[in-house]
Amino acid sequence: MNNKTMSNTLDIDIDSEKIAAFQAKTRGQLIQPGDPDYDEARSIYNAMIDKHPRFIMKCENIADVIASVNFTRENDLETSIRGGGHNGPGLALVDNGFVIDLSPMKGTRVNPVSKTIRVEPGCTWGDVDHAAHAFGLATVSGIISTTGVGGLTLGGGHGYLTRKFGLTVDNLLSVDVVLANGKLVHASEDENPDLFWAIRGGGGNFGVVTSFEFKLHPVDQVFGGPMFWKLSELENTMKWYRNWLKNQPDDIYAFYLVAEVPPGDPFPEEIHGEKVCGLLWCCTGDEQQFNKATKEARSAAKPIFEFTGKMEYPALQSLFDGLYPKGLQWYWKGDFVKELSDEAIQQHAQFANVPTTHSTMHLYPVNGAAHKVGKSDTAWDKRDATWSMVIAGVDPDPDNAEKIKSWSKNYWEAVHPYTLGGAYINFMMEEGQDRIKATYGENYERLQKIKSKYDPNNFFHVNQNIEPAS
Ligand SMILES: Cc1cc2nc3c(=O)[nH]c(=O)nc-3n(C[C@H](O)[C@H](O)[C@H](O)COP(=O)(O)OP(=O)(O)OC[C@H]3O[C@@H](n4cnc5c(N)ncnc54)[C@H](O)[C@@H]3O)c2cc1C
Repeated sequence: MNNKTMSNTLDIDIDSEKIAAFQAKTRGQLIQPGDPDYDEARSIYNAMIDKHPRFIMKCENIADVIASVNFTRENDLETSIRGGGHNGPGLALVDNGFVIDLSPMKGTRVNPVSKTIRVEPGCTWGDVDHAAHAFGLATVSGIISTTGVGGLTLGGGHGYLTRKFGLTVDNLLSVDVVLANGKLVHASEDENPDLFWAIRGGGGNFGVVTSFEFKLHPVDQVFGGPMFWKLSELENTMKWYRNWLKNQPDDIYAFYLVAEVPPGDPFPEEIHGEKVCGLLWCCTGDEQQFNKATKEARSAAKPIFEFTGKMEYPALQSLFDGLYPKGLQWYWKGDFVKELSDEAIQQHAQFANVPTTHSTMHLYPVNGAAHKVGKSDTAWDKRDATWSMVIAGVDPDPDNAEKIKSWSKNYWEAVHPYTLGGAYINFMMEEGQDRIKATYGENYERLQKIKSKYDPNNFFHVNQNIEPAS
């Protein structure tokens, strides 16, 4: 008998002694095909993704990450990095390859004096909110608490606090990164500043980030919640919204959405299933400011539903968690939007009739404080965009996969001509190099140079890939 281990279903062949030697160096669980935990370990948020990795390493600490990077490099395995597992095209996993699964690494450490937090890469934003809220503090994240800190941050990150405090990367102070050669480095404005520049928007291209340090802000209670109009009010309210947002103080945030009212609390039965457009509010200012803003929105058209008021910031952050559990089918497409012309709004009106209850279109503001950072200050090039748009076809039933895909694609094709060209990398499926280049614009070449310095062989390529400069 030879000492090779071969999976029944996969075609990667590694010497079992090498696997045992790797396991001896690590504390985390190494999961392989056939193991009882394998199917759970390879399942991610988007149930449309069905990949079969050869190894899934549940890393417990930095030593496990270093050993994993060295093992995969020495054995020529394709490698993916998993944080919260929310990535749309499933780039957390790789067929036949090795998954560096960071989800067990969940430590947080708040320093309430310096108003900073250190976060391990397996944390979700719910973990960060929980830790920071105990001190009445928060940082910029997304709109769902189950999203991973890793992928969201490295892509740039925008959410309820973006108009007030910028992108997530604008609040990142430093990181620790395991590079493709297995070495751990620190990166900040003062140390390895080129790497620090690149990871602020450049995704998982440069190494495995094992620690994130963020700035925190005194955000405890906010005024927020949803306000819906009938879908027939879309043209009218979207035109009002584009003009109104320009004149708002940074404390006022509202993203525009189209949706279907889901059955269940807090929505009254008579509007269940109704197609709507609307706003999702977050105001970091005072009640007067919020009341003024919502009054103006009510004057644009009479809402059919409102659930707004004062709430704890983590409550707003997790408002959608119940509606969007793990295991739904997702297909999304995005774009950056600078202006909403009348023609673009007409296209929205034509396609906004969502095909399923969970499907939606969101226009997330990325202006306000996010515009106070320069185009070349971080890898995030689209500092002139007003919104980051996502059109997300979502449904629990795999039989509806084609239906949600074609709705997202058709809607996107109709509005894409009115956009800036690139998309937030975290709202892209696998759409090819041209889209990635368009996203990074003038920053792409600089990213390529930094990639060739830190990862010349493109070891980390299971991502929205930045190819090393040749
Ligand atoms: C329901 C939902 C709501 C969302 N809302 C928002 C939102 O409001 N704002 C927003 O900005 N985004 C939002 N997103 C998009 C989100 O930012 C991306 O899906 C992101 O990829 C999720 O990060 P993750 O760690 O969960 O992903 P994963 O799938 O675990 O990782 C995605 C990729 O990130 C990289 N990566 C992750 N962790 C690390 C690490 N530690 N080191 C190096 N590379 C790493 C890898 O390349 C990996 O392939 C949302 C997504 C979903 C599904």
